[in-house]
Amino acid sequence: MSSYNVAPLSSLIEQFERLPGIGHKTAQRLAYHVLGLSKEESQNFANAIIEAHDKIHYCKICCNLTDKELCPICSNEARDKSTICVVEDPRDVIALERTNEYKAVYHVLHGAISPLNGIGPDQLCIKELLVRVNNDSVKEVIMATNPTVEGEATAMYISRLLKPLGVKVTRLAYGIPVGGDLEYADEVTLSRAMEGRSEI
Ligand SMILES: [Zn+2]
Repeated sequence: MSSYNVAPLSSLIEQFERLPGIGHKTAQRLAYHVLGLSKEESQNFANAIIEAHDKIHYCKICCNLTDKELCPICSNEARDKSTICVVEDPRDVIALERTNEYKAVYHVLHGAISPLNGIGPDQLCIKELLVRVNNDSVKEVIMATNPTVEGEATAMYISRLLKPLGVKVTRLAYGIPVGGDLEYADEVTLSRAMEGRSEI
C-alpha cells in the first residue's frame, strides 16, 4: 500500500470494484468522480441505493421486481393470465416487453439451475411457479430461459414438474444464438422466437 492510501477512498474503490464489469482502474475513476460530487449529490446517490434496496421486492405473483404488492404486468387486467412466459432474469421481461407482441404474463426465476455454481432449483422461484399453475387457470407455460446449457437444463427440469399438472409446456424457437442471452436479442428475433415456439 502506498503512503497516499486514504482508507475511506480505498473502501469506496473496493465497493465499485465489486460491481460486475468494473476493473480496478474504472473503480478508481468512479470513486474519484464520486468524491467530486457535492454533498447533496453524494447524499442522493447513496439514498438511491438504499431506497432501491428498501422498496424493491418480488411481485407476489410473478417474482418480477416491483415496489408495489404486484408488478404492473400482473395487475394489468388486460393481460392474458392463461399463458405464463418463464424467464431467468427481470431484464428478460423488459426485452420481451420491447417486442410489443406478448400480451400474457411472466414468471421470473432469478437465475438458472447451475450445479457448478452451486445454484439448485430451491434457490430459484420455481415453487412460486408451480403454485400459480396449480391454482390459476393456466393453459400454457412458455419456457423462455436462455439457450445456454443452464437455461436448457432449467427448462427441462421445470417442464418435467409441470407436465403432470396437465399444462402445455412450450420452448422458444431459436433464432436466438445458442449460448446467447435473451436480454441482448433484438426485438424481431425475439418476436420470431415467440411465434415459432414448440411443445416440449
Ligand atoms: Zn408480477
